Amino acid sequence: MDLYEYQAKDLFAAHGVPVLPGRTVETAQDAAEVAAELGTAVVVKAQVKTGGRGKAGGVKLAENADEARGKAEAILGLDIKGHIVHRVLVTTASDIAEEYYFSFLLDRSNRTFLAMASAEGGVEIEQLAVERPDALARIPIDAIAGVDKAKAAEIVAAGRFPAEVADEAADVIVKLWETFVAEDATLVEVNPLVRDPQDRVIALDGKVTLDENAGFRHPEHAALVDERTENPLEAKAKAKGLNYVKLDDGQVGIIGNGAGLVMSTLDVVAYAGEKHGGVKPANFLDIGGGASAQVMADGLDVILGDLDVKSVFVNVFGGITACDAVADGIVEALAILGEGATKPLVVRLDGNNVEEGRRILDAANHPLVTQVDTMDNAADRAAELAAVSSQGA
Ligand code: GDP
Ligand code: MN
Repeated sequence: MDLYEYQAKDLFAAHGVPVLPGRTVETAQDAAEVAAELGTAVVVKAQVKTGGRGKAGGVKLAENADEARGKAEAILGLDIKGHIVHRVLVTTASDIAEEYYFSFLLDRSNRTFLAMASAEGGVEIEQLAVERPDALARIPIDAIAGVDKAKAAEIVAAGRFPAEVADEAADVIVKLWETFVAEDATLVEVNPLVRDPQDRVIALDGKVTLDENAGFRHPEHAALVDERTENPLEAKAKAKGLNYVKLDDGQVGIIGNGAGLVMSTLDVVAYAGEKHGGVKPANFLDIGGGASAQVMADGLDVILGDLDVKSVFVNVFGGITACDAVADGIVEALAILGEGATKPLVVRLDGNNVEEGRRILDAANHPLVTQVDTMDNAADRAAELAAVSSQGA
C-alpha cells in the first residue's frame, strides 16, 4: 500500500526523522487557518499518490494565510495524472540550500535491500538514473546487519553528500532505516532531502510503500487506508479475503486456482483476445487451493460486479481440491448468486477427477455455462463471447 506524503511524514516524525510541522485540510478556508496557526510562510501541497506534483502545479509557496487560501483554492480539485486532489498539506516552508535524494527499497532482482543516495536530488530520479547514473549511488544493505551509523556514513560518502552535513545526514539515514524496518515498508523515499541554510537536514517530501503481507503485524496501519481512492471492487474482494487485482481496460473476468495458473491464464486470454478485437483480461483472481462453493460465489460476485466484464473464464486445475468439488462449487455458487449471475461463464476443468467434474457441470446444464476442455480453446471462447457482447452493448 502506497501512502500519502503526509502519512509518510507522520511515520518519519514518529521515528525521529526531521520534518516540518503541518496539517492536511480539505478546504481553502482551513488552509488559511493552518497557515495562520503556523505563523510562517507555508507550502501548500496536493496530497495525491503520484509523483511530479510540483511540475503539475500541485506544490505552491504562500507567504501568509491569505496567500495560502488562494493557493489551496488553485490546488484543490486539480487533476494530477488522473488523481483528483481532495486534500492539501499545509506545512511550514523551508529555505533550501541544497536538495538531495535518498531511498531504501527492496531490490527484488538482487534479493536484498538497497539504499540509493544522491547529492543531486529534487529532480526526477528516473531521469537522473538515466542521464547521470554515476551521480546516483546504489548501496546494497544486508538484511541482518541493517544500517548503523557506520553503514549510514558509507552511504552518505557514496552519495557524495557534502562534508558539512555528512554527520547529520547519516543520523537521518539511520532513522529512515528504523522507519523502513519497524513499519515493514518496501520503499522509503525522500526527494528532496534538503539542507537548509543552517545546515539542518530535513525530509521535505516522503514516499512510503508498506508491505501488506506484514499487515497482520500492524493493526494501526488499517487507519492509513483511504477508502475514497480504493478501487471499490478491490475493497470488496479484500473484505471477503480474496486475492484480487482489477486490471484496466479488460472485458474477460478471470478466476483460477494458484497464482501461477492465473498469471498464465491472463497471458493466454490477452493473446486470444487479439483475434477478437483486442479484448483483454479484466482482473487477476486466485481462489487458492480450497476452492469451496462460498469462495467461488464470492469470486464470481466480485467479478460480475465489474461493469467492464462481458464474459468470465473459470480456469481450474484440480489438485488436492478435486475437479468434482470445484464443479459442485460452481453449481452452488450460481445457485447462491441466482439472478445476480448475468454473464456467460467459460469453464475449463482439468486435473484430479476431471471426468466427474465435467459430468457434474453437464448435468447441471446451467444456461450461462460453457465447458471447454483446453486452456487455449477456453480462452478463445471467453474472448469471443466478450467481443460479441461488447459489440452488442
Ligand atoms: P513532488 O513534485 O511531488 O516530488 O513534490 P515535492 O514535495 O518534492 O516538491 C517539489 C519541489 O517543490 C521540491 O523539490 C522543492 O524544490 C519545492 N519545495 C517543496 N517544499 C518546499 C519548501 O518548503 N520550500 C521551498 N523553497 N521549496 C519547496
Ligand atoms: Mn518529491
